[in-house]
Amino acid sequence: MPAFICITCGTQFAASQNEPERCPVCEDERQFVPPSGQSWTTHEALARRHCNCFRQHEPGLIGIGTVPAFAIGQRALLLRTDRGNVLWDCISLVDEATVALVQGLGGLAGIAISHPHYYASMVEWAHAFDAPIHLHAGDRRWVMRPDAAIKFWDGDTLPLARGVTLIRCGGHFAGGTVLHWAQGGDGRGALLCGDVVQVIPDRKFVSFMRSYPNLIPLSAPAVERIGELLEPYAFDVIHGAWFDRSITRGGKAIVSRSIARYVAAIRGDGSAELN
Ligand SMILES: [Zn+2]
Ligand SMILES: [Zn+2]
Repeated sequence: MPAFICITCGTQFAASQNEPERCPVCEDERQFVPPSGQSWTTHEALARRHCNCFRQHEPGLIGIGTVPAFAIGQRALLLRTDRGNVLWDCISLVDEATVALVQGLGGLAGIAISHPHYYASMVEWAHAFDAPIHLHAGDRRWVMRPDAAIKFWDGDTLPLARGVTLIRCGGHFAGGTVLHWAQGGDGRGALLCGDVVQVIPDRKFVSFMRSYPNLIPLSAPAVERIGELLEPYAFDVIHGAWFDRSITRGGKAIVSRSIARYVAAIRGDGSAELN
């Protein structure tokens, strides 16, 4: 039986004879069902029309994306640590070339994912590399393909390796997580943040939303809490969810001033919009 993949959001579902009737991830208020309706593919069909591409963001950090772009279009990050490689976030395709290349780099010690929009084909990846998947328990109900490889964690932080820490920021999703890499950014620290902290196109700010496509903002307290949770961590570099969304300098100050700008906008009295 095939494990169908939603073409809109890229989520793979548990194996079934027929296509799933609906995709709860797309039907959630944070995503959408396109006007043409829900449609499905399989990993096998996806591999016939797409392949993966690779780009090194900095030493020890390689982005893996699918071309032509598929579903939401995010890219995963292969982070190399002294306790083995961690795959940060996930994509829907893990083709034979990707398996061969990643195995050549030492395989995967674990997979960690920021939030359900990037769960993608995580179980396919876990099986290919015999690796556990670390998901925050706050998002347990969004797992569409349950598997023994999935390990749920609780609380605000989970150390994965020396200098590699998962931080549950919440916000976009209850279990929304970022990864702090102390050795990243040439030792200045790096934050891998999916779209829990969103690097925006000008790369001078980040922002925060409950839903990006449907334009639903987060509350001021939720965004302030993200700032408090990140406060103990030093980072200068921020790697967002796409190949071109990386901030190479001043990341910590950018997060601070972005939170201040966001909170001023959402708590404002309307006078700012008159300028
Ligand atoms: Zn979907
Ligand atoms: Zn998202």
